[in-house]
Amino acid sequence: MKKIIITIDGWSSCGKSTVAKQLARALGYVYIDSGAMYRAITLYFLRNHIDWTDEKETLEALQNIDLQFIANPLTQQSEMHLNQENVEYLIRDLVVAEKVSDVATIASVRTFAVAQQQKMGEQKGIVMDGRDIGTTVFPNAELKIFMTADIQTRVERRYKEMHDKNPNITMDEVKKNLETRDYIDSHREVSPLRQAEDAILLDNSLLTMEEQLDIALKWVAKKLASH
Ligand code: C5P
Repeated sequence: MKKIIITIDGWSSCGKSTVAKQLARALGYVYIDSGAMYRAITLYFLRNHIDWTDEKETLEALQNIDLQFIANPLTQQSEMHLNQENVEYLIRDLVVAEKVSDVATIASVRTFAVAQQQKMGEQKGIVMDGRDIGTTVFPNAELKIFMTADIQTRVERRYKEMHDKNPNITMDEVKKNLETRDYIDSHREVSPLRQAEDAILLDNSLLTMEEQLDIALKWVAKKLASH
């Protein structure tokens, strides 16, 4: 069967990666978490005290960054490796979350990440989630989904996820981080977060996991039938 590219963009913590993983599993496609790449770059910059507002320093630092998604044999989930180190867990930390949107505004960082993302899509058969996938990375993707959910639902979801790792985290901290990231992501100069004109809106505030997959699979079937 013909393979397509599916893009999922949207606000922070609205369940993009859940839908993307569900779809990839159901279709036998590869799931790519583009946010993990920006998070890994941020981790590298923080660890190495890179001043990302300095263009020359940033470009030099990017030359020393190797990003790979490698499948974990136990979970079969692909995990982010930064210079051969598995950083999948570390990049979910609040320290990284607090800086990632600033780092993601830098043009050279975006050029670096987007080039690799486009390469991953050459064979099609991928589901990639992020903020600019349907607008910048794959403007010709066959199916584009733009996701949203109400802020309280998003805060509760992310709080639950982060609280397991860091019991000291508060709901307020999580809310502030989501709102700040959403603001920076949608107001930056390069590839701001916005719904592509041909993207379909999916609001999953009141949907179960099964319901959201069902809806998304129907859209896929429709696209495949029309190609
Ligand atoms: O998807 P996730 O929340 O892990 O992404 C972390 C951050 O990376 C986002 O808040 C955004 O600043 C940045 N990002 C981006 N473009 C993407 C994916 C993520 O700017 N395609």
